[in-house]
Amino acid sequence: MPFEYYFFLAFAFILGSVIGSFLNVCIYRIPEKLSVVTPRSRCPHCGTAIKWYHNLPILSWILLRGKCAYCGSGFSVRYPLVEALNGFLFALFFYRFAFHPVTPVIWLLSATLVVITFIDLDHQIIPDVISLPGVVVGFACSFLVPWITWQESLAGILLGGGSLMFIALGYELLTRKEGMGFGDVKLLAMLGAFLGWPAVFPVIFIGSILGSCVGVTLMLVNKADGRLAIPFGPFLSVGALCHVFFVDRLDPLMRWYGDVLMYFLQNIW
Ligand SMILES: [Zn+2]
Repeated sequence: MPFEYYFFLAFAFILGSVIGSFLNVCIYRIPEKLSVVTPRSRCPHCGTAIKWYHNLPILSWILLRGKCAYCGSGFSVRYPLVEALNGFLFALFFYRFAFHPVTPVIWLLSATLVVITFIDLDHQIIPDVISLPGVVVGFACSFLVPWITWQESLAGILLGGGSLMFIALGYELLTRKEGMGFGDVKLLAMLGAFLGWPAVFPVIFIGSILGSCVGVTLMLVNKADGRLAIPFGPFLSVGALCHVFFVDRLDPLMRWYGDVLMYFLQNIW
């Protein structure tokens, strides 16, 4: 592979981690209904505004050993991890789609899913202020990018929102308790808007398998009963990103498999 390719791959990682720094702000502030733009980030302990050179993604946390430069109180390791995760996703999807115009769309989707995942883990909610505009943006992208047609996007919204609403209502009728939040319904409508209707059932399928594996493991480890509440949003998000990476519309799975195999043969063997 040409040298420039690695340069762009590194650039994608750095761009993703810088945006990841902003995603941390979103994860923290959106559930509190605070502005994500102002004020500037402050140390939650001493209130000192954080200088830009103390706010470099990943690096600053390591250089300051996870502590505030002024009062020495600790910052969670989750901040650099979210930055690294988003950097990784940006690099991964650049690796996957390179300069195809769908790359920025998938970056937008993956960054949104990072925010949704961590808010859902923290608060067991998926804020409407993310998922509902996400439906509109996903639909709009179907006009801008030759990836899915607007008809597929529209059908994705209806199928994504409709199918999970059907499951959620059925579950409530059968068990007389709320098993799935309607936040998940709106999230799946958003995923349908971005990825089109053919993605909806694979995403539910991958998400359910992952959710069941993690759920069973947690129950065995904690010896908890079946009422342990695990948010479904993170699993739908991982399912969607897996679907985008493995079974996308540009070429079939085998083509990707062939690319990786060729890459190993040419560069590592
Ligand atoms: Zn401080």
